[in-house]
Amino acid sequence: KSNKNSDTQVAVVGAGLVGSLEACMLAQRGYDVHLYEYREDIRTLEHVPGRSINLAMSVRGRTALRHIGVEDSIIAHHAIPMRARMIHRPDGSTAAIPYNKDGQCIYSVGRRFVNEVLLTKAESFPNVTCHFQHRLTAMDITTRTMTFTNPTTEETNTRTADLIIGCDGAFSAVRKEMLKRANLNYSQNYIPHGYMELCIPADKHGEFAMPPNYLHIWPRGEYMMIALPNQDKSWTVTLFMPFNIFESLTSPQILMNFFQQNYPDAIPLIGEEKLVKDFFANKGLPMISVKCSPYHVGSSCLLLGDAAHAMVPFYGQGMNCGMEDCLVFDELLTKLDYDLSLVLPAYSAKRNPDAEAIVDLAMYNYVEMRDMVNSRWFLLRKKLDNFLNLIFPRSWVPLYTMVTFSREPYHMCIKKKQRQDKVLHCTSLAVLGTAVVGGVVLTWRSGSASDWLHKTFNFVVTAGRSAVPYLDHVTLY
Ligand code: FAD
Repeated sequence: KSNKNSDTQVAVVGAGLVGSLEACMLAQRGYDVHLYEYREDIRTLEHVPGRSINLAMSVRGRTALRHIGVEDSIIAHHAIPMRARMIHRPDGSTAAIPYNKDGQCIYSVGRRFVNEVLLTKAESFPNVTCHFQHRLTAMDITTRTMTFTNPTTEETNTRTADLIIGCDGAFSAVRKEMLKRANLNYSQNYIPHGYMELCIPADKHGEFAMPPNYLHIWPRGEYMMIALPNQDKSWTVTLFMPFNIFESLTSPQILMNFFQQNYPDAIPLIGEEKLVKDFFANKGLPMISVKCSPYHVGSSCLLLGDAAHAMVPFYGQGMNCGMEDCLVFDELLTKLDYDLSLVLPAYSAKRNPDAEAIVDLAMYNYVEMRDMVNSRWFLLRKKLDNFLNLIFPRSWVPLYTMVTFSREPYHMCIKKKQRQDKVLHCTSLAVLGTAVVGGVVLTWRSGSASDWLHKTFNFVVTAGRSAVPYLDHVTLY
């Protein structure tokens, strides 16, 4: 903690997962923090509207929570460990794939619960003031002036701060104002898939209707469904599919046929009536990927979390990465003795390659899910990847493990993966070549080569097909 910071006023715009965490970290460093949030205080609401009821939390998010002393209250008592993926095949059979052979797991946490713990923690600091129902509607970066509008009364008020931190999500108003300045690059991408949240309620005994310590996945190539457990023994189910498929399911009968064909085992779990009711009460929601750079303007303005780098949710890293942003910023504050004119550019330079790497990885996983599932070559390489990790556990770490269970900078995860890919490529070629040549030589001696080739081809095809449901989402979630 540095007392000299008490004269510096920091405005954090957006009290979601990242903004409320950032307010705590700044408060620990002695800043005079004002946290502005568009919505009402969620702790006072019966129902909080919004997306993704629960999220997968892993090492990066946990490390950030530990830094402000709330990891235990969230993870130990209110998170459900997910030790493996549970793959549901179209015929209703299931297979478990552990996340990690060393027993590491990810955790299902409730968005609202985590947000509430962080808000309460922020308010416990005497140097944090929360302002709810404050929607940022305009900002002048030169004078560091913000205009807030009350969404209910439409009243406006104006505030200033020495530093403004935009944690206001993928459609950030702070970023929009920053983009009016020169030298800020920005791109956004909507994908053709949408998502919809459904629910599997607790069973008639009030228990989980499926084995709880898993992230359940129904991989179906172009479509996918996942389910994460909730504290009240229900499951939040997320259906991912192209918008044109959402739009084609126009009647209860068509919807039920679609589920019969793709997710038959989920129908009795959700309940037919509930499935129809919830599906037609909702609509497919869009997913956006955002990149921008740098993340700061001078020493007055900075973006963290989704405001800086929203990503498609196929790696389960959006919140984890946003929380790690706060850690990286905090590390630089202490390293550069709280000199904001040095810290902000240093943050942009350090964090940009990593944030863009995970935005790309999340998008890659989306493409992989769509296009690679039927590639036998891809599946063979995945098998080899896992095998090499078994024999060289320290030096050969699968990408998913690096991203999810370490704080290895994201761009280094990609670099290491690229090096491994080169080795994999050559090894798979060598394995395939040796198998074919060896087999041909052996059978040439003992009988018909064409018979052997036919058998080998059939074997590879069958093995490839049966491996699909196990391997196609090995890196997903
Ligand atoms: P947000 O959560 O969007 O919070 C922004 C806050 O700013 C909100 O409170 C909002 O009300 C407020 N705000 C907005 N505009 C203004 C304004 N003008 N003025 C004042 N306040 C404003 N990540 C994971 O790590 N694991 C997962 O399993 C996972 N699953 C996901 C599943 C889905 C379907 C989706 C869509 C995302 C998922 N994510 C996941 C990503 C995660 O939800 C986000 O990365 C995370 O919520 C980002 O937090 P944030 O605080 O930056 O933004």
